[in-house]
Amino acid sequence: MKFNTLVSLLAAKNVRLVAVSKTQPPERLLELYRAGQRIFGENRVQEMLEKRDALPDDAEWHLIGHLQTNKVKLIAGFVQMIHSVDSLRLLAEIDKQAAKANRTIDCLLQFHIAQEETKFGLDETEAVALLQSPAFQQLKHVRLCGVMGMASFSDDKALVRSEFHHLQEIFQQIKKAFFPNDPHFREISMGMSGDWEIAVEEGSTMVRIGSLLFGMR
Ligand SMILES: *Cc1c(COP(=O)(O)O)cnc(C)c1O
Repeated sequence: MKFNTLVSLLAAKNVRLVAVSKTQPPERLLELYRAGQRIFGENRVQEMLEKRDALPDDAEWHLIGHLQTNKVKLIAGFVQMIHSVDSLRLLAEIDKQAAKANRTIDCLLQFHIAQEETKFGLDETEAVALLQSPAFQQLKHVRLCGVMGMASFSDDKALVRSEFHHLQEIFQQIKKAFFPNDPHFREISMGMSGDWEIAVEEGSTMVRIGSLLFGMR
């Protein structure tokens, strides 16, 4: 799909685009940058570091894949948002490294909404335990901005829709219980190349799209 077409479709719905640039060479990112794209999503720290060096300073970097605690320090100085927080331990490490860098880092809680066993993420009980814990309440250098999830990799559109709908409900419940007056808690990161239209219909505020923009990996 043409970048401009996708961007205007999303803009009409107030949905932001994270261009998922994993495995793509820096030149391809620069093309999109010149067309106006600023938010790039990577799932590996090393790749993010290399591409950051190759792009102008006002590009924004979102970490969307599983993040190991020992890698947090490598990105804490610049990362704009971490979509894949799935434990208090990781959140505490992000807080610690953000404090050292004199920053506050925006984070999303990743939920396991798909049927597949292999995908990372919290369930609702785990998320509530995290949010209620005194250790979480002491963190001052992370800002929770919402939720993220991946639907099942399936042609069954009703299934995918029900999973996105579930994530939207989780978002509403958490917002009501823990962030009722916090305007920053507003993001639902869901939707990829194959299912972004359904995700947008179900309330996505941020889609993470790779192959539709860059071609097959
Ligand atoms: C790769 C990836 C995407 C984008 O996938 P496409 O199908 O290429 O759009 C989105 N989110 C995460 C977490 C990814 O790892």
